[in-house]
Formats: sequence, C-alpha cells, structure tokens
Amino acid sequence: MSGKLFLIGAGPGDPELLTLKAARVLRDCDVILYDRLVNPEILGLARPDAERIYVGKHEGLQEHTQREIARLILDKVRRGKTVARLKGGDPLVFGRGAEEWEMAVRHGVSVELVPGVTSAIAVPGLAGIPLTYRGIAQSFAVVTGHCTGGKAIRWQDYVATDTLVILMGVKNRAAIAQSLIDVGRNSQESVAFVQNGTLRQERIVTGTLRQVADSAIDAKSPAVWIIGEVVRIRERLATPRG
Ligand code: SAH
Repeated sequence: MSGKLFLIGAGPGDPELLTLKAARVLRDCDVILYDRLVNPEILGLARPDAERIYVGKHEGLQEHTQREIARLILDKVRRGKTVARLKGGDPLVFGRGAEEWEMAVRHGVSVELVPGVTSAIAVPGLAGIPLTYRGIAQSFAVVTGHCTGGKAIRWQDYVATDTLVILMGVKNRAAIAQSLIDVGRNSQESVAFVQNGTLRQERIVTGTLRQVADSAIDAKSPAVWIIGEVVRIRERLATPRG
C-alpha cells in the first residue's frame, strides 16, 4: 500500500484563501473527496483526470456517510492512490477530520494534515469583526450550536468569555440566545451573523442577543454567529475587498 491520505482545509470559501500547500497537493493528487462547503472553483486546481467524489453530508445520515467515506478512502489508498480529503475551513474544527485521521491510522494509512483557514476566525475578520481587541475582548470561544452524540452544550461555561463564535448555530439561534441570557449574558449584547462569508453572496445581519431570542433576526445557513462587544468595532472598520 503506497497511497497516502492528505487531510486538507479548503478555507472558508474564497479560493484565494487556500494555502499554497493545499494547492500543490490538490494539483498532484489522484482522488479528491470533498464536502458540501468546499467551493467548486477549488476543485479546478486538480488534474483534469483526477477523480472527484462528492461526499457532502446531510443531517441524519451522518453515521452512514462517515462509514462510506472511510470505505472510499481505504479503497483508494490501497490501490496506491494519493487521496485528498478536502474539508471546508480547517479540517479539525468541527469537521470530523480527526475521526477520519484516526480511522486511517488504525488501518495503517499514512496521513498528512494540511491546515486550512477556519471560517470561525476569517469570516468575522473579513466582515470587520476582530475576535480580540485590546481593552475590549481578551478571549474568544468557538462553540458548536448543533449538538450531536447526546452531549448538551453547557452555555454557562461561556458567560465570561468575551467573544463567542457559534458555528452551525443558525437553526437553533433563538433557543441558544435564550439559554445564553438565562445563564447571565447581557441581553443587549451585540450579535452578528455573517452568511456566506468571503463569497460574493456574503450578507451580514446584526442585532442584539434579545432580538435573536425573540426570533426577530433573520439568518440563513451557513453563517458564523458572533456575540460580543467586538461586533460594534465593525462600524469603525472599512472592509476593503478586491
Ligand atoms: N471546519 C469548518 C467548520 C465546519 S462546521 C471551518 O473551520 O470553517 C460548518 C459551519 O461553519 C457552518 O454551519 C457555518 O457556521 C460555518 N461556515 C463555514 N464556512 C462558512 C462561510 N463561508 N460563511 C459563513 N459560515 C461558514
């Protein structure tokens, strides 16, 4: 077995936010397995004859799909192929990348990680929202708003964190906001949802935690949800693009 698995971060959307290493590995690989949030333009970097396999997940079918992905990876690597497993953002931030890495190691497959620019930091940043700011925010936490495996999120653990970044939180936003208010976060705190960050269709919605709890904020997935005083810094920052 001479194949190899590269676990690659595709970044948050804009293909230019791919690392040079990711671009090089994509140019050289034989097979690409890619997720839903990977920008299709990035696939264009691969050789025309490279095999491109979509393995995007749908809620509720995750376990089955994960097994299927593992089977595909092992099958290709055993045929001596170089496999690029391409995931949105950074593969190890809510991407189940580590699970695929563990699976590969268990089967004796050699694995190399190519980290990616995570949406958790880059999407707020490009929208003019820094996660830290001297004198305003000394800490941030990145939390999932979509719990699986029966483990509830302990929102009380995030009362004192200056900036909260919630991924996969759009659907449950009202309940999450209410939980955060219940455990003691200020209901008048500023929030922003950045939808389709780094892409042409980017849209930013701002408001307060209270408004989110009252279902008065319209947001669509995929979005990065930022909670904290840093959201207001956006008014002072230009957001140059180009
Ligand atoms: N590994 C990814 C995150 C996977 S979880 C990373 O590091 O970025 C998927 C969630 O990421 C989405 O529900 C959304 O909250 C966020 N996300 C990813 N790309 C995004 C984008 N371009 N704009 C807004 N949110 C995005």
